[in-house]
Amino acid sequence: MSGTVYLVGGGPGDLDLLTCKAYRLIKEADCIVYDRLIDPKILEKAKENCECIYVGKENHNHSMKQEDINQLLVEKAYIYKTVVRLKGGDVYVFGRGGEEALYLREHQILFEIVPGISSAIAGLSYAGIPITHRGIAGGFHVVTAHNKSDELAEIDFHAMAKSEDTCVFLMGLTKLTEIVSHLIEAGKAGDTEIAVIANATLPTQQVLTSTLAHVIGEFEQHPLSSPALIVVGRVVALRDRLNFQEEKPLFGVKILLSKVGHTASAIGERLQALGALVCEVQTGLLQENREALDSIVYEEYTHIIVTSKNAVHYFMNSLHKNKIDVRTLHAITFVAIGPATRACLEEYGIYHAIAPQIYHQDALLACLQEQLQPNHHILFPKVAPLNEEGMALEQALEKICPVKVVALYENIPVEKSELKKQIEQYASIPLTKEMLVYTCSSSVRRSIEIVRQVQEISCAQIFSIGDKTSETLRTYGVDAIIQSRHATLDSLFDTIKEQAEYTQKRKA
Ligand code: SAH
Repeated sequence: MSGTVYLVGGGPGDLDLLTCKAYRLIKEADCIVYDRLIDPKILEKAKENCECIYVGKENHNHSMKQEDINQLLVEKAYIYKTVVRLKGGDVYVFGRGGEEALYLREHQILFEIVPGISSAIAGLSYAGIPITHRGIAGGFHVVTAHNKSDELAEIDFHAMAKSEDTCVFLMGLTKLTEIVSHLIEAGKAGDTEIAVIANATLPTQQVLTSTLAHVIGEFEQHPLSSPALIVVGRVVALRDRLNFQEEKPLFGVKILLSKVGHTASAIGERLQALGALVCEVQTGLLQENREALDSIVYEEYTHIIVTSKNAVHYFMNSLHKNKIDVRTLHAITFVAIGPATRACLEEYGIYHAIAPQIYHQDALLACLQEQLQPNHHILFPKVAPLNEEGMALEQALEKICPVKVVALYENIPVEKSELKKQIEQYASIPLTKEMLVYTCSSSVRRSIEIVRQVQEISCAQIFSIGDKTSETLRTYGVDAIIQSRHATLDSLFDTIKEQAEYTQKRKA
């Protein structure tokens, strides 16, 4: 008995355009066989032990023949329960999905088709071009420009020239000149609108609009690279009014967002939603010091200070591991560094925590100075290694009452070579507008020199989350810093957004 092969459409590029079913199957798959147009980021959602096999084509060097792919799917179906064959766009739109399904049927392998959003339609939408529009185009032709021998496919240009339908050519970039001349020869008017859309739906989307008479010259001056769609028809003129994607404030901007630990930053997706291409660069890993709180007698303490969400999580983990009843803490006052850390305590049912209005060490100290008496006793579980600034807080507190500092978890630097690889990947993204966003000092210390080695940073806008991070940037000679109004991710996001909107307005 074999497993099931799911032939899954991966959508046109933007991972948010993946269907729920595709997403669920990617998470469940034991094996994923994927193509060139699939963003490898999606594979991060797969199970840890999922076998991921790349069978794409790179610059016409077929890395695997279609017959071999068919055979591979059969083989894997006998090994695994759930095999996902992941293709760009829709499975049956020039994806050779039909051939694979027929082969599986012939070999009595169970299969299912999971349709995807095709670039042939969605790619146009993201460029502000509706594929049909009442009174302008009552239908559409979607054709491939290539035949098996890499020549121009047999296309009925006369039918296209006669009708008002929108014509969409896939795999057509190298055949642009031929397509245009055939359409004109067949009688299509030279002033018919045409668009070339590259990397549709992605932050690197680029669109050239012109007319049949002028497009070749303009394309030579502004060449685009594949994957690209060619659209011919009067609907192209609607782009002026219906374009939305490229008008987002961060469209065309690449962002290096520093991150420590495995969880994605709370602002990465929000920046992406504003059109940016966000590269989260991991500078450090968090390692829990599991025994840190084992010998603590909680009854001895009057206050517990927490200065990050991670400290809250690890603290609660430790209570759980040591089977300490939360009621043991009933007389202890929790003090959080800011509203977000306090909200994190609330998730664990601790509602009485004190926190300053803004996230800032000085505000925390002022808040504590008001509270503390010499007979109090503080437990301060926090991150290691402790930096000078962190120590300054403890020293100030020790003047009032005893403080027990516990290194609850550690921020360990990632290997330099690994960090460099991530930064090189970022640098290779072909977008010229860029932002470097630093969310902590340790990330600056670990990465700024490498960023400089890999690329010029003088044109990048550099953002910092707060005083400490800005100070560290300055010690590395970076002075043009845009600092977040408050030292929180929410405020950092607002600062970036406002800056982008301001830049956009100035250009308009
Ligand atoms: N099954 C896919 C098409 C595969 S053929 C679908 O339904 O979208 C590959 C061609 O699709 C490319 O040569 C290009 O013409 C088009 N294409 C796919 N993704 C694209 C994208 N993000 N932007 C522009 N064209 C794209």
